[in-house]
Amino acid sequence: MKLTLPHISLAAIGPTLLGVLVVALALLVHPAPRPSLAPASAVVAMVDAPERPIMPGEATATHETLNGTYIPVQSLDVVLADGLIPLAEQQAFAQEIEQALSYVSSRFGSGPRGRINAYVGVEASCGIHGIAYTGERMVQVYTCATLPRVRAVNILAHELVHQLAHDHYGSRHLQADLILLEGLATWGAGSYWLNGEERFSAFVRPWIAAGSGLPLATSYVGRPIGDMNTLYYQWASFVEFLMQVYGRERFDALYVTGNSEPGSADYQGVYGKPLEVLEQEWRAWVVQ
Ligand SMILES: [Zn+2]
Repeated sequence: MKLTLPHISLAAIGPTLLGVLVVALALLVHPAPRPSLAPASAVVAMVDAPERPIMPGEATATHETLNGTYIPVQSLDVVLADGLIPLAEQQAFAQEIEQALSYVSSRFGSGPRGRINAYVGVEASCGIHGIAYTGERMVQVYTCATLPRVRAVNILAHELVHQLAHDHYGSRHLQADLILLEGLATWGAGSYWLNGEERFSAFVRPWIAAGSGLPLATSYVGRPIGDMNTLYYQWASFVEFLMQVYGRERFDALYVTGNSEPGSADYQGVYGKPLEVLEQEWRAWVVQ
């Protein structure tokens, strides 16, 4: 099922209404098995399914031939699938991805350990989504020619943080607690996902205040796109909370203790309290 939404001017809606919009979208797409949204460009990642869930046992390597135009820039080897970006704009687009890498590196606190492949492919349904194969130093986004290219950059900003996390934490990154894995990538994408807000707490505050948020230790597998978005923003806000309240050093210690499952990191060992207590603190912090 493909769901096409009308274009919405961001200027016409405030943060609270954005939250309502997401909830409304979640309700809209709820019964669809694999819906894809084509929302207004201004709402950006809020209403996209930024990544398709990787199912247990699914191969994570991509060996399909990635055809397109090769554009090397400072730190990236960009490949653009044919027909997505007009020839005259391809170099500038590759530079926008490079700028995103520079921005997220600064926000994350360290840059890449080597060159990164960035592939921009075609998703015929226009259900934009990305993925990072950090062991292969490959990030990908799938989009279509009718979507604004900035949305592909927004998704890639998130995927590039996954690569920076792998480069910073090593292969333990691959077993990171899902809350921290996706929370860090979303937080690290910063302004590419903040839609003009200062902090991720601004996004989740209406949900938390209304009691409509999800428990942090929730898997997105099998859930509707709206829930996946809610979880990504909640997790980003939780990461923001952990870093601001408890500091980066303990966050780094925590990040390498999980086994992929949401909630699996050693919160007790690092913070002296279980996730449930930290989650309560985070909820109070968000609405304060
Ligand atoms: Zn991700």
